[in-house]
Amino acid sequence: MLPAAASRSPDGRERPIRPGNAFAAALDRALRRAFGAVYAGAMRIWDIAPALLCQKHLTGEHRELHGLWNILSQGKRGYANHPETRRWRDRLAALYARHEALSNEMARRGYAHASPLDPELATGASVQDAYVDPPAEQLRLLRAKPCRCPLDEEDRQEAPA
Ligand SMILES: [Zn+2]
Ligand SMILES: [Zn+2]
Repeated sequence: MLPAAASRSPDGRERPIRPGNAFAAALDRALRRAFGAVYAGAMRIWDIAPALLCQKHLTGEHRELHGLWNILSQGKRGYANHPETRRWRDRLAALYARHEALSNEMARRGYAHASPLDPELATGASVQDAYVDPPAEQLRLLRAKPCRCPLDEEDRQEAPA
């Protein structure tokens, strides 16, 4: 039998689950898996060179970019107030350029890419300069993740010749 998510003290009031409770931890993991992408603000278009992203982040961003493109170019309501959606509104030319950069990097790594965007919809500003997090902070966020983003490449690029 599963342990109860909350237990009652002698006065009948519910006590919170104590930290370290295995059931609570498993529930938390399940909720993050189920809802994390929706509720944790996980949708993100990075503003750093695609060559610096691991496969997971490169393909994940590419997938999210297509979703964002569909929302913005077809006037869909999904994620309308998400900060990532707001900053690309009226900047579809810049989003188009980001998709080109991602798909070029995917091709360089040998991925078949069969999802071109319609260039006729690439309207608005062609440069993105509004950030949810500035690029330096994005690098810090990626460095803190347990993935294999080849971020050291950037250190080499920045190193004096
Ligand atoms: Zn694509
Ligand atoms: Zn990564």
